[in-house]
Amino acid sequence: MEPLFVYPEYEIVRDRESCITCRVCERQCANEAHRYDEFNRKMLSDSTKCVNCHRCVALCPTHALKIKKSEDTYKLNANWTGDALNEIYRQAGTGGVLLSSMGNPKPYPVYWDRLLVNASQVTNPSIDPLREPMETTVYLGSKHAEIVRDERGRIKDTLAPQLKLKTPILFSAMSYGSISYNAHASLARAAEQLGIYYNTGEGGLHRDFYKYGKNTIVQVASGRFGVHPEYLEAAAAIEIKMGQGAKPGIGGHLPGAKITDAVSTTRMIPKGVDAISPAPHHDIYSIEDLRQLIFSLKEATAYKKPVIVKIAAVHNVAAIASGIARSGADIIAIDGFRGGTGAAPTRIRDNVGIPIELALAAVDTRLREEGIRDNVSILAAGSIRSSSDLVKAIALGADACYIGTAALVALGCHLCRSCHTGKCNWGIATQRPELVKRLNPEMGVERLVNLVTAWTHELQEMMGGMGLNSIEALRGNRLMLRGVGLTEKELEILGVKHAGE
Ligand code: SF4
Ligand code: SF4
Repeated sequence: MEPLFVYPEYEIVRDRESCITCRVCERQCANEAHRYDEFNRKMLSDSTKCVNCHRCVALCPTHALKIKKSEDTYKLNANWTGDALNEIYRQAGTGGVLLSSMGNPKPYPVYWDRLLVNASQVTNPSIDPLREPMETTVYLGSKHAEIVRDERGRIKDTLAPQLKLKTPILFSAMSYGSISYNAHASLARAAEQLGIYYNTGEGGLHRDFYKYGKNTIVQVASGRFGVHPEYLEAAAAIEIKMGQGAKPGIGGHLPGAKITDAVSTTRMIPKGVDAISPAPHHDIYSIEDLRQLIFSLKEATAYKKPVIVKIAAVHNVAAIASGIARSGADIIAIDGFRGGTGAAPTRIRDNVGIPIELALAAVDTRLREEGIRDNVSILAAGSIRSSSDLVKAIALGADACYIGTAALVALGCHLCRSCHTGKCNWGIATQRPELVKRLNPEMGVERLVNLVTAWTHELQEMMGGMGLNSIEALRGNRLMLRGVGLTEKELEILGVKHAGE
């Protein structure tokens, strides 16, 4: 059935004086929103096709284009907004679940913006990171709570395998399939240069990227796409994906249009057919089952690799993490509800899960109270936007943070949230060869390395300002944080005092 007409969300505005009809916009827009009218010799626009990716705006040589949010589309109504009406019209026309991409855009509180960081004054002087050593290296994995010695007093060297990061940042799971070959190549090579890790997501590991194995975390998700012994062996660590912040409680979905020959070979699945990974792992219905999978993976890799368990931040996340910390996992990754995705049902993305700030604080508190905090390292994920978010996450208890959306933005993503269509005009979330080649991996590596280097400098400056010279001293140090405009309950969960206290 034809959907009813919906007002375009964006308007393409072209300055006729400046437009030189070079047709760059027509060539650059995979959504075919621009067209050349041969008869009248002028460019035409179809605003209904525009997703506001800014590709045409950025590449128009005379800056003749801008994209505006459409105004006054329906009669003003604070309850029945234009977006609400458009979504109903779409669903009434198609009978389908609404799909979207990237993170939750709704105006829920962003707790990072309500936390302030301390700085030394007079006593406990600050440290100048340019002149004094500032340790940003972290080791992720299970640690002994205390030094263990044998009967002759020698330290027992029984430390579980660790991941060494030169700075407490990792590139989060993004599968080959959801993102392009060139995006993966950029992440892999940048991780190698930076001495950190990138993550395959649930899409398997392309043959070309085995050489980056020592900087690769491979994922084992419910669909088991691309999982085989060589894949596990190639990696530095293995991540079991139980959940994802953007879509807690449901599985993965890669639209068939993105499953090309290479993606199908890497994932070991048919070409052109939607790849749906189930919501649960069908062999995991308890912590004991999870423990079995963890030890199966350790056994398969001779106990040489740390195992990460990734969960979505949900209501009882602290209790879940407590179980995982006792299950033999080395690292827990917690993904908050603002985390990105290549494709998720809109309703799930926007309404399910909880903010990473509250989840992280609750988990760190619980594991400390139970005396098992050193059993595992904690990775925080789900919209780390800057080095200050990173500092605050570490102070709330994270050992390091995954960044996904920020990494894609560094590669050129303009957050148009249309990844699921496979028409990413920036060559990132697409498999169409003519679009993939728009992302130059050389440039991608450089931009990712620049971003992480810049954040590391800022991290060192902020640590120095607090009088701290190592990540270890910052981790879980909530005295370095103060809340502003938060309720007693929020402060209690975050474990921080209000500003002025
Ligand atoms: S979708 Fe992107 S390239 Fe196409 S008209 Fe809109 S902003 Fe321009
Ligand atoms: S990756 Fe591409 S399609 Fe996805 S939000 Fe970014 S620019 Fe849009």
